[in-house]
Amino acid sequence: MIKESNIWIKCTQELSKVLSEKEMRTWIKPLGVKYSESGISLLAPNKFMKEEVERNFLDKIMFVVGQLHSNLVVDLSVESKVKHGQSIVTPRGFRTNLNKEMTFDTFVEGKSNQLAKAACLSVVNEPGMFNPLYIYGGVGLGKTHLLHSIGNLLSKANKKVVYLHSEKFVQNMVTALRNSQMEEFKRFYRNLDVLLIDDIQFFAGKERSQEEFFHTFNALFEYKKQVVLTCDKYPKEISGLEDRIKSRLVWGMNVSIDPPDLETRVAILQAKSEALGSSITNEVAFFLAKNINSNVRELEGNLRRVIATSRFKKCDITLEFTKETLADLLSLNQRMITIDQIQKITANYYKTRVSDILSSKRDKKITLPRHMAMALCKDLTNNSLPSIGDGFGGRDHTTVIHANKKISKLKKEDAQIAQDYINIVHILNNG
Ligand code: ADP
Ligand code: MG
Repeated sequence: MIKESNIWIKCTQELSKVLSEKEMRTWIKPLGVKYSESGISLLAPNKFMKEEVERNFLDKIMFVVGQLHSNLVVDLSVESKVKHGQSIVTPRGFRTNLNKEMTFDTFVEGKSNQLAKAACLSVVNEPGMFNPLYIYGGVGLGKTHLLHSIGNLLSKANKKVVYLHSEKFVQNMVTALRNSQMEEFKRFYRNLDVLLIDDIQFFAGKERSQEEFFHTFNALFEYKKQVVLTCDKYPKEISGLEDRIKSRLVWGMNVSIDPPDLETRVAILQAKSEALGSSITNEVAFFLAKNINSNVRELEGNLRRVIATSRFKKCDITLEFTKETLADLLSLNQRMITIDQIQKITANYYKTRVSDILSSKRDKKITLPRHMAMALCKDLTNNSLPSIGDGFGGRDHTTVIHANKKISKLKKEDAQIAQDYINIVHILNNG
């Protein structure tokens, strides 16, 4: 084997036979080089250089390297700190992509997210114990916040952590494929201690990405490295995801995050307004919390809007002022739909009683409204399956999945039931 540090020197000697002196001076000599176990990383001082070298010379470089040492991988990246022709042997720090603001300290705990937070903390304390940890729930409920919180703590403990949105994972893979750098790609992920992948529902329908992710996951799993995933759905509900992957996802631990209850929403508002350098009265906090019950992102967004407007108009944040500022939103939110309303209206529509829907009776006169109400809760509210199950007399989340499938099927087969569904949605929306 050629001595590491000689490879690039040899390589440039070979290249100078096929490139002009000017090309060598302008494009090849300025590249830095970094060696790793299985490859060479060439470091361009800026993006322009990288792209030019990629377009005009990378093929030749790879060819020459291949001639010298057939199984070495070459990749090209930008490293602005690189000095002309410098050789770096220590590994370059990689991007963790972590948002330092999202920590456990800034995460307000309540009944709806307690379990998820506890599971995340146990991953921090004992990485590899729950593997993978799968966090699921509706949008804006704190899944991404928790991922970053885990990442920030583990990164402090010197673990090699990377946070990635699943779309970015797909993008990176496509780039690697295009540049024939799959080996690099694989090596990168397999060398991590902790991999945090957000919103894996975006893998749906992308077979090659699923495949790669599955292998990466298995490799990490085998070495007891921690993987944490988030999704907007329970694994079984993700369509367009291979079954073997779904079954793998539930191997570890899965926890749901639900919309926060009133008290937690108030606590979140108070914490956030403090962080924004403002303070709001209890009255205002309760008012906002009562009227915005969908998710934390909206809660925060509207709080910011109120605070910004008060600063701009130089007004105090009174209840009147808050109502005025959020007038458009409040008229919309009056139509917010809850599990209770769905049960009441569905029972009414089918001329039965809510208590029957919640009971364990199994005659068809009652199972249809029950299934219909469950399916509507899933379609129209932001509640997770377990919490919908809870709302139906402590049923299991699988019952909700079953009800949902059943209603989807009936809607296709039976025009009356399809019409029932539309009618009930209409009543719910129009009061
Ligand atoms: P998701 O990933 O579930 O869609 P995010 O984690 O992006 O939601 O949360 C949306 C916003 O709400 C973020 O700004 C986040 O910091 C904030 N947030 C969510 N839950 C909490 C919480 N329990 N305490 C404090 N902030 C929260
Ligand atoms: Mg998110």
